[in-house]
Amino acid sequence: GTTYLADYTPHPFSIDKVSLCFRLAPGATRVQTRIEMTPLSPGAALRLDGEQLRLISAAIDGVALTPSDYLITPSGMTIHPAALPEAPFTLETEVEIAPEGNTALEGLYMSNGMYCTQCEAEGFRKITYYPDRPDVMAPFHVRIEGDLPVLLSNGNPVASGPGWAEWDDPWPKPAYLFALVAGDLVAHSGSFTTASGRAVALNIYVRPGDEDRCAFALGALQRSMKWDEEAYGREYDLDIFNIVAVDDFNMGAMENKGLNIFNSKLVLASPETATDTDYERIEAVIAHEYFHNWTGNRITCRDWFQLCLKEGLTVFRDQSFTADMRLGPVKRIEDVIALRARQFREDQGPLAHPPRPDHYREINNFYTATVYEKGAEVVGMLRTLVGDDGYRKALDLYFDRHDGQACTIEDWIAVFQDSSGRDLSQFKHWYTDAGTPRLSVTDDYADGNYTLTFEQHTPPTPGQPLKASRHMPIAVGLLSPNGDEVVPTTVLEMTEARQSFTFPGLSSRPVPSILRNFSAPVVLERAASPAEQAFLLAHDTDPFNRWEAARSLARQTLMDMTKGAPPKAEYLDAIGRLLTDDSADPAFRALILRLPGEDEIAQALHASGTTPDPEAIHTARGALMTTLAHRHEAALSATYEAMAVPGAYTPDAAPAGRRALRLAALALLTQIDGARRAAALFASADNMTESLGALSNLITAGKAEDALEQFRSRWQDVRLVMDKWFLVQASLCPPETAAERVTALAADPAFEWKNPNRFRSLLGGFSANHAGFHRADGAGYRFYGDWLLRLDPLNPQTAARMSTAFETWPRYDKTRQTLVRAELERIASTEGLSRDLSEMTARLLG
Ligand code: ZN
Repeated sequence: GTTYLADYTPHPFSIDKVSLCFRLAPGATRVQTRIEMTPLSPGAALRLDGEQLRLISAAIDGVALTPSDYLITPSGMTIHPAALPEAPFTLETEVEIAPEGNTALEGLYMSNGMYCTQCEAEGFRKITYYPDRPDVMAPFHVRIEGDLPVLLSNGNPVASGPGWAEWDDPWPKPAYLFALVAGDLVAHSGSFTTASGRAVALNIYVRPGDEDRCAFALGALQRSMKWDEEAYGREYDLDIFNIVAVDDFNMGAMENKGLNIFNSKLVLASPETATDTDYERIEAVIAHEYFHNWTGNRITCRDWFQLCLKEGLTVFRDQSFTADMRLGPVKRIEDVIALRARQFREDQGPLAHPPRPDHYREINNFYTATVYEKGAEVVGMLRTLVGDDGYRKALDLYFDRHDGQACTIEDWIAVFQDSSGRDLSQFKHWYTDAGTPRLSVTDDYADGNYTLTFEQHTPPTPGQPLKASRHMPIAVGLLSPNGDEVVPTTVLEMTEARQSFTFPGLSSRPVPSILRNFSAPVVLERAASPAEQAFLLAHDTDPFNRWEAARSLARQTLMDMTKGAPPKAEYLDAIGRLLTDDSADPAFRALILRLPGEDEIAQALHASGTTPDPEAIHTARGALMTTLAHRHEAALSATYEAMAVPGAYTPDAAPAGRRALRLAALALLTQIDGARRAAALFASADNMTESLGALSNLITAGKAEDALEQFRSRWQDVRLVMDKWFLVQASLCPPETAAERVTALAADPAFEWKNPNRFRSLLGGFSANHAGFHRADGAGYRFYGDWLLRLDPLNPQTAARMSTAFETWPRYDKTRQTLVRAELERIASTEGLSRDLSEMTARLLG
């Protein structure tokens, strides 16, 4: 069935205290649950969620229930009102579960012999009978019995002995934040003293042998704790904070109270095994999960429709953290690249939904770029509208007013309205409406007055044909024709469908810099000439818009090249100037040197009314790289040499930026040097960033067979590195034969497809091979569909998530559309398909 936001009703019982006792055994774990509760609305039945549980016993106030007292279905247990006391009572149950056979990786499962849990969103119901909804919050006491050296749960450790441990979490929490870990683990430990003097023990638990790859994650945790005190005034609230790394995990990581559980790829790092990008991502996700302690745990969500209340805000917080730890403008550009690649793409296809959806069949299908990344953009716009001080005031009020509560987007907006005195009712459309607004601009100059006229329009999305105008902050600056800034950044607030803003007192017609720092998540439709773009790239004071000018020049050049036009001279010249501009940061230059990806070009062609041709896009992109390489060979070669980083590897932003620029130059040079430099770098690299960068270039050049063998024999025992081996081949191999390549890789004994990271490396890599995946004969679609069907019975969550590769089908020609639809229909009509994947295929088919 479908769940609707409009159907929300409060739970008719309060849960005052929960005690759990686990007797661990792989095939038959016993869970005893004791829930103290108070009826709030007399006569109500007690509905408990529960799936795949074998009930052993149930009792109220010590008296066993008989089968006539309750009803059990595959989704839960309902205790009849007649069997319930009117006063506070205690419900005790015992169930049996089988973690060993749990391949869905939701609830209590096993990974490499260790027990672990994933309860968000609705996994706790696979552990015991319970009101598994986020607005039911309670303090938990947990006892674990099991013959394993490390036994962990939420909160503070209270007692332990051989084969058992007890944990107590004083902070009331919803069941989705419950966690348990048991295994043969070792800790990399440290500590942190909070601003008010609380000493917190920090541990990162990993499998023996991995402990020397934890130091960076620990440092990232300490930096996050400090930053949250300084930027948000938020202190940690327990004596201990544990992180556990697990190899089998459906998502990135999980913010369980005091016991975060992470995909090991987001914890383990050493220079030899992790890239600069991995390091940056580890720091960001450690921060993200830590920040959830306040935005998610202390203040949680009333229901799952409010998911972006915690996720959008927490992504916004982790983005701000990374911006402070590294280079702010570079981080902003990276975030916008990712937003366009994932969220704009989602918003423009059949899966478009608002940051706060109003119905779902399977909530796990809504952990999306829209909820997370667009959710973060909406928080960013709120900050722009009320200013930095206004934002801090609003957040202080949020924490004051709602600590300990399960809240809604309405609560969140009310905090901004009440603290700023502003009316945000129109702004709320950003939360409730799907779709990316299009913003067009015209300008006019007369008598010293410069006028910008904006028009906004949001195309229809599934279920939302008509769109209201959005309240959007448009940050604008004006430059004089000689390149001086004559009007510094000013935030215009647009609320109408069409609206003009006039800047008086200008002695000549200025050049506008619009949507600085990407102040609103919209598509700016503005026919700026290549000369004007080149001017902005050279003179704008806003780094984001300098990059944006180069990006749109590159995008337009590539779009024209797919139709047979030659590369734009303005673009080629601008790249030459930037390459040798030593005043620009290397990381920033690297971003400008890297061309838009093939999917971005396809998205842009489709938006401009042209059906994208994947082969033509691939060819055009390669041709532009070759042209750039010939044109700027000397400067690229000099940059490649100059950006070599001497001395020992560190993952800091400065050397990482140099390596990024070096590899961006290498990608162009490889087009014309017979992969000579890439081969030399592969042979000499002492860090994974350069090793993998070199290998990627060798693959693109078709000269990687020996290198791939060497890489494999060196890293065959390091899972996270072998994931990269699969990923680079699937994503970068020549598209004409990519389907054959991934078919061979899938038959490789190292393709452990039940491991989500390995599955994502091969399948996700392949779908990123744009022309390979979209090959005209449909071989790519068929390969992909076969694997989704194979994974679905074991792990529906990951199968459903991976099905989003098909979301762009309406962009392409009729032949490809027919092929994708046939594939989706084949999947949809498969007997026994999961709820997860069947919701996705239904939405994908529209
Ligand atoms: Zn999160």
